[in-house]
Amino acid sequence: MINASAVKGEGIHWQVRLMRLDRSRELFNRAQELMPGGVNSPVRSFKAVGGTPPFIAYGFGSKMVDVDGNEFIDYVCSWGALILGHAHPEVVNAAKAAIERGSSFGAPTEAEVTLAQMLCEAVPSIEMVRLVNSGTEAVMSAIRVARAFTRRSMVVKFIGCYHGHADYLLVKAGSGAATFSIPDSAGIPNEFASLMLSLPYNDIDAFASAMRQFGKEIAAVIVEPVAGNMGVVLPAKGFLEALREETERYGCVLIFDEVITGFRLCYGGAQNIFKVAPDMTVLGKIIGGGFPIGAYGGRKELMELVAPIGGVYQAGTLSGNPVAVAAGIATLNVLKQTQPYEKLNERSRVLSDALSEAAARAKVRLRVNSIGSMLTPFFTDTPVRNFDDALRCDTKLYARFFHEMLSRGVYMPPSQFEAAFISTAHSDEDVERTVNAINEAFAAMRC
Ligand code: PMP
Repeated sequence: MINASAVKGEGIHWQVRLMRLDRSRELFNRAQELMPGGVNSPVRSFKAVGGTPPFIAYGFGSKMVDVDGNEFIDYVCSWGALILGHAHPEVVNAAKAAIERGSSFGAPTEAEVTLAQMLCEAVPSIEMVRLVNSGTEAVMSAIRVARAFTRRSMVVKFIGCYHGHADYLLVKAGSGAATFSIPDSAGIPNEFASLMLSLPYNDIDAFASAMRQFGKEIAAVIVEPVAGNMGVVLPAKGFLEALREETERYGCVLIFDEVITGFRLCYGGAQNIFKVAPDMTVLGKIIGGGFPIGAYGGRKELMELVAPIGGVYQAGTLSGNPVAVAAGIATLNVLKQTQPYEKLNERSRVLSDALSEAAARAKVRLRVNSIGSMLTPFFTDTPVRNFDDALRCDTKLYARFFHEMLSRGVYMPPSQFEAAFISTAHSDEDVERTVNAINEAFAAMRC
């Protein structure tokens, strides 16, 4: 890694060139021949910010080291999954011990009961839960249950919220507040998208009016209680309450997608903080300690519709995988015992303040949205309350900021529309180094 001070004051391109990326570049070239975009999930390709993604060799605590030996303080943390940082010893030991006993059985294990109990205890609206392999799977399954329960087809989602890549969930609204959706990806029949209603996040009036019009046809309303997939956007006062009230009025199933927020803002869901209980909850990421997992759960009468006791079919060869479950239990145990949330929040506040102050000094327009240990610096001078607001950001400036930070050894999310995550492994020293990098980055970007 080139010492940031050695290149201080010079243009970003020079700095980026000075960061050794030879081996990553070589791998990226090979990867692009073999895998679409050279990656197994699109945002990893750095398409939104340009440049070569460092290929990661290993991680420890708050750091990742790439194949060229560059070390980064990591604020992606496997997209929020690694709340304890990389290779936390208790998680590693639990996973090792599990794999030594056998990596998969396709038969029930005691650990699944333990994790299910931990989830039900931590998220009181979950009375019964089913483990799956990803957030996408969990959302698909929860919606299937909601459709079976209500015997209705339509689903409301909010623009800018991401719920995985199931066909009908990859939709955005057309023009107008409440309009039938068009597919957001090639390969999705319009018929699928036509069962979705996409509404602006935080717009209580648009939601109430859509419910007046379609309420009796709507099976489920799904929402990220704190949006993390358009960058961090907090629910406006009364928004979640309005969702609860209206869904109750029309007999629709309210689903909170807590794949990001589950165990991120407190031990449990964001619903514990906002005190709004959905009918169903979707979890993922943190509950697998960095291994593939997802979970959906909710009221018993809904979950009892799931096979084998009910008619909603849903299954998985590796569901409840012993290694993922062991890592999840270990992660939740550490969180429960150490209750790190206040400390995480404090570190997040220091970073948010540093971003705002550095941007102000540099006369760069910036709004920082943050809650708990998730935050997004939006390059705009107006508040970001929904996806339209987020789209007003200067994404080129974000890309510049991203590379200024990366070249100083700080790995921020490679897109304006993603959350940065802080883990319990981020030390005071990491935060201090990050604040220095922020100050230097904005100084270099001074308008
Ligand atoms: N829901 C939310 C809120 C998410 O953030 C994500 C993934 N980032 C998903 C669902 C999909 O999860 P997965 O990538 O595990 O399929």
